[in-house]
Amino acid sequence: EQPILQIRNMKKHFNLGNGKILKAVDNFSIEIKRGETFGLVGESGCGKSTAGRTIIKLYDATEGEVIFDGEDVHKLTGKKLKEFNRNMQMVFQDPYASLNPRMTVGNIIAEGIDIHGLYKGAKRKERVMELLRAVGLNDEHASRFPHEFSGGQRQRIGIARALAIEPKFIIADEPISALDVSVQAQVVNLFKRLQKEMGLTYLFIAHDLAMVKHISDRIGVMYLGNLVEVTTSDALYAKPLHPYTQSLLSAIPIPDPEVERTRERIILQGDVPSPLNPPSGCPFRTRCPQAMAKCADSMPPSKEVEPNHFVACHLY
Ligand code: SF4
Ligand code: MG
Repeated sequence: EQPILQIRNMKKHFNLGNGKILKAVDNFSIEIKRGETFGLVGESGCGKSTAGRTIIKLYDATEGEVIFDGEDVHKLTGKKLKEFNRNMQMVFQDPYASLNPRMTVGNIIAEGIDIHGLYKGAKRKERVMELLRAVGLNDEHASRFPHEFSGGQRQRIGIARALAIEPKFIIADEPISALDVSVQAQVVNLFKRLQKEMGLTYLFIAHDLAMVKHISDRIGVMYLGNLVEVTTSDALYAKPLHPYTQSLLSAIPIPDPEVERTRERIILQGDVPSPLNPPSGCPFRTRCPQAMAKCADSMPPSKEVEPNHFVACHLY
């Protein structure tokens, strides 16, 4: 079966004037299968949100192809574009900023229904109630305003809004990062349940690997605008190949104190370089504990080192 999303060599560069070009997304190719959850991970500023926004066409791609359901999304017009806008929805990081404070929760959720003219009157009301219940809220919440809700509840409202027009694909841009740790698991479980019930496909963006572990089938790791490693969630945790992924994983505490005490932490030197002035060759080489001479000369291409395990590093 054809993957629902195929991204080939997608780039998103921003021209900042004065000859300055910000290569926010530079090497980005993935395929996402129908019904799967693909986790996209990297530190803030690595380009993961920009990648998400380019996929959903909030930005035009500078280069490359984004094929959704067999169609290049950057070439869509008219009816097909409208269909795409319905089929792909986004859930945003900040459940405070992304909900209009002057609109009732019912009207926020129904925004897409109204734009696409799907339901009116009693049917519309019924659909809003159905969505509220689907995300674990109640009918009476429809007439209330966003400020009356907790962070976790607001994120549920954001999810209901995204689901209102029955999309096939949801891009969730750090949907749990702003929530209390105690609420994060609940929201992740809600995403999982909705996926099962509605057959959704997710691109789930997060800034650390611990957050995507329990939801992702496969994971892509980004560094400075480049996808450096892509594989199944299990393989990534069991056998990370890229030195950057290895350092990210070594930063996650292990519950067993005995293991935690004896294992080695990889502490990276320095900060992430500015994307305006990235290093030559491998973008990670200024911080990589295993950098070699040739790492400065050329960008390592992504290679399938083991079946379904892609890594962009000269060590392989
Ligand atoms: Fe490190 Fe070189 Fe691999 Fe880059 S290519 S991650 S610098 S070993
Ligand atoms: Mg972001």
